[in-house]
Amino acid sequence: MGVPCRAVMKFGGTSVLGSQGTDRVASILADSPVGVVAVVSAMAGTTDLLLRGAESAVAGRPGLEAAAGATRSAYVGVAKELLARRELADFVSRVDEVTATYRACSGQLAPTPSGANRSLEAAASAGELLSACLLAAVLRQRGVAATAVDSAQLLVTDGHPLAAAPLMPESLERTRVRLLPLLQAGTLPVVTGFRARTAGGEVTTLGRGGSDHSATLLAAVLPAAEVWIWTDVDGLLTADPRLVPDAQLLSEVSYAEAMELAYFGAKVLHRSAVPPAASAAIPIRIKNTMRPQEQGTVIHRRSPGPGGARAVTGVAEAGLLTLTASPGAGLNRLAGEVFGRFADARITTLLVTQSSAEDVICVAVPAGELTAAREALRQASYLRAQDAQDQVSVVVVVGEAMRGTAGIAGKMFGALGEEGINVVAISQGSSELAVAAVVQRRDLAGALRALHRVFELGHPQTSRDAPPQVLR
Ligand code: ASP
Ligand code: MG
Repeated sequence: MGVPCRAVMKFGGTSVLGSQGTDRVASILADSPVGVVAVVSAMAGTTDLLLRGAESAVAGRPGLEAAAGATRSAYVGVAKELLARRELADFVSRVDEVTATYRACSGQLAPTPSGANRSLEAAASAGELLSACLLAAVLRQRGVAATAVDSAQLLVTDGHPLAAAPLMPESLERTRVRLLPLLQAGTLPVVTGFRARTAGGEVTTLGRGGSDHSATLLAAVLPAAEVWIWTDVDGLLTADPRLVPDAQLLSEVSYAEAMELAYFGAKVLHRSAVPPAASAAIPIRIKNTMRPQEQGTVIHRRSPGPGGARAVTGVAEAGLLTLTASPGAGLNRLAGEVFGRFADARITTLLVTQSSAEDVICVAVPAGELTAAREALRQASYLRAQDAQDQVSVVVVVGEAMRGTAGIAGKMFGALGEEGINVVAISQGSSELAVAAVVQRRDLAGALRALHRVFELGHPQTSRDAPPQVLR
């Protein structure tokens, strides 16, 4: 039995931005008890910049040098403010190595037969390497024993390009062998988010926004007692406060509720991050780096409590496809073909409704995936016609205790009707913990406000279960 890991703490791109952000994160870690593993993202904006640079190199356009240069100066700039001479010199040579690898990877971009582009993934995740090295150096300078660790040595995946799925036994072995001795020695591992490797040893990633997933995967395999996702908001709220001014903090939610909220638009946590923690029953705590004294939100195994909705959320930019089967094909053949093709193209299906009498299926997808979805259906043999609407939004009411509670849908559509909001399509998740509706995009804010009001979510949310013990 090794030293227990008390918490994996993940710091997002806005939290490690600039010298102020990096310094704040270092203070949080320096004040934490031993037994913590840190996971860091690239500074906000870096991954986009690196990807753009690499993509221009593929297209034969200039831009690679500018991206490498801008990344270098961003990190060296912060380091100059935070590091003294010796750590600074070491860090700058590490930046030069990482940016040289970035240039080299980007220069070799050529897809493999599987369509994967390993060099692109290595190039895209260079920022995480820099963040981990920088934070570890800042911590050492403060007298905290810290070591940067590349998660490409720890997490093994199936290697699907930019959306890989983890291979747990392989990841468990590598992670324990590397991290447990560090924890035992009282050293704080500062691990890169986002990066992983294939079984063959090539660098891959967990997809955009994948650092949250890195944190929960590491916690599941170590195992860790808790995962803390440090970000720039206080936690999960009853609604997006930019659209619903009286939105309230949720002090605790269930794993299933967190999944629904993450799936349908709440940007606080990546949806793929929930399952590894849920299956190991590890609580996830959302914390604000700017306000560490706040409790935040705990995602854990909670009992549903008395009936009702807990939050409203939505996907602002959605598209709706109305798909009609060719004569005689029938709904089943059409559905089989459509969802098979969507699975191959990794299209995100937000909502599905069907009309058996007319042999019609309606599918809502993120607006950014609408073209790819239509492309995936080209020459589908059971499809007679497809119609696409691109100016719609999906609004969702979430609450585990809605299961078996009569009248939720009635209340929802009554409230929308009173506002004169037309509902284009509706669907209730088969688990009954989410009811979703498609509305015109211009009606989004009005719909969210009406739903928040009718389910009385605008008053402070009291917790029904005692959240698990706080770390310190
Ligand atoms: N830096 C990566 C991204 O921007 C991963 C992350 O931030 O979670 O997608
Ligand atoms: Mg994020």
